[in-house]
Amino acid sequence: MKKTVIIGGGASGLFLATLLKKDYIILEKTSEIGRKIKISGGGKCNITNKNLSPDNYRGDKNFIKKIFNRFDNKDLLRFLDENHLKVKELKPNQYFFNSSEELLSFFRQKVKHISFNTEVKDIQGNKIITNKGVFEAKNIVIATGGASFKKLGASDIGLRLGEKLGHSFEEFKPALVGLTVQPSEYWFKNLSGISFKADVYVGLKKYSQNILFSHKGITGPAILNTSLWWERGKIKIDFLAGKNVFFYLKNPDKQISTQLPLPKRFVKEFLKAQQIEDKKVKFLSNQERNRLKNINSYEFAPAGTFGFERAEVSKGGINTDEVDFFMRSKKVGNVFFLGEVLNVTGELGGYNFQWAFSSAFNAFGFLRR
Ligand SMILES: Cc1cc2nc3c(=O)[nH]c(=O)nc-3n(C[C@H](O)[C@H](O)[C@H](O)COP(=O)(O)OP(=O)(O)OC[C@H]3O[C@@H](n4cnc5c(N)ncnc54)[C@H](O)[C@@H]3O)c2cc1C
Repeated sequence: MKKTVIIGGGASGLFLATLLKKDYIILEKTSEIGRKIKISGGGKCNITNKNLSPDNYRGDKNFIKKIFNRFDNKDLLRFLDENHLKVKELKPNQYFFNSSEELLSFFRQKVKHISFNTEVKDIQGNKIITNKGVFEAKNIVIATGGASFKKLGASDIGLRLGEKLGHSFEEFKPALVGLTVQPSEYWFKNLSGISFKADVYVGLKKYSQNILFSHKGITGPAILNTSLWWERGKIKIDFLAGKNVFFYLKNPDKQISTQLPLPKRFVKEFLKAQQIEDKKVKFLSNQERNRLKNINSYEFAPAGTFGFERAEVSKGGINTDEVDFFMRSKKVGNVFFLGEVLNVTGELGGYNFQWAFSSAFNAFGFLRR
């Protein structure tokens, strides 16, 4: 019997195993480790971010802060450096590897005790029931991730196991994902492939990043981040990212589309949707001028999301007020929850790996004893 069984050979499980060094076994459903690591960050794994704060996460801010107090982005960068793993700031504040393979081969070297193709079905006391028989452990770590990208082995088993152990949770929903649109915004679909910087507002959050129109609706970093907070109801886009439309429409003898610093195809479709002809500014009626202001505050209610198949993460998860700062269940003492299975979800930019590694480090604080 191993001291610790880690269910899931993804980011958090692998990091915990690396720290533990011995007396553990990972039970991994698929035939390889870290399938999400492999494809993350466009194959370069955006591991963390220079700016780290609980505000970058959906979840209990106090809890998140306490977890980062023990292991934050600086600690992770130091760990990588000490282990000769080189990362670069390829996008502002975001650290990437040259290739995700560098992190994966590090884990392959460090993590030796893995049972592949082993799908955990149930936990009964200190017994872990799998398709390959029963494993026993003093400590059981649930590191099964979220439900997005099912083709990579993802499932909501972590929630089902947690539920059985008496935990409450928020059901997983797709997050960091594009948004589909209602008929009033079908004009977005005619703009598939067009991308530019805009300000997107959702609740009290604002994201000033690129939006990308797609044949399914709207996506791009600003929208992916918006999806973290959007549940239902309206979001707002300032397509001119903070500059009033009439700041640009200074020349009364020129057409609208020639004066706005936006892709012409977008301006034409926007004007059509607002029932405004693309004409010289001096010919605009007062009503048309008013409707034109919508370009600074275009409000609409998305229809839904592109779904789990396209979502980078799942929001929701096991409620964090039911685990202590060692990520240990307050309901059943020998069970731990790490990473995405917990109700903590980060924005784009390396925040989700940081959370996976920080939560694993905190659990290590208890499990190394
Ligand atoms: C396309 C894509 C790109 C991403 N890019 C980034 C990025 O650049 N930066 C970033 O911070 N985050 C990124 N993420 C998110 C990040 O990958 C996850 O948040 C992170 O991997 C979560 O770590 P985890 O350990 O909780 O779960 P995972 O890494 O998902 O690991 C869970 C493991 O559990 C296994 N498992 C599931 N069910 C069972 C079972 N019943 N029995 C045994 N094993 C099981 C799975 O096969 C998997 O190996 C990306 C995600 C996707 C899908």
